Amino acid sequence: MNQKNLRELQTYVKIFVDERNWQTPASDILIHMVEELGEVARNVLKMKNYGGQHTSDSGHNMPEELADVFYLLLKLANESNVDLVEAFSQKMEKNSKRFPPVIKSD
Ligand SMILES: [Mg+2]
Repeated sequence: MNQKNLRELQTYVKIFVDERNWQTPASDILIHMVEELGEVARNVLKMKNYGGQHTSDSGHNMPEELADVFYLLLKLANESNVDLVEAFSQKMEKNSKRFPPVIKSD
């Protein structure tokens, strides 16, 4: 897949889902997303050597697990009729007013 912007990715996921008849209720998408977030968490904990367990696995599945979460976020946005580009832009505008940048002194 060539590089796409966020709006193109959201459309791509809609087409991908529609072509496979994989439409599912938002609640199912959310449960799946939580499961995939759990996989991300496992990778993070492995990278942090959580619990002192010695392992050669250093979170090499992280890109794939983050992609799973991202795919489900786009799928959930489609199922909820949310334009993620518009929603993200509006939210970040609010955040930038609510949380102004810290002025650093030298
Ligand atoms: Mg996964």
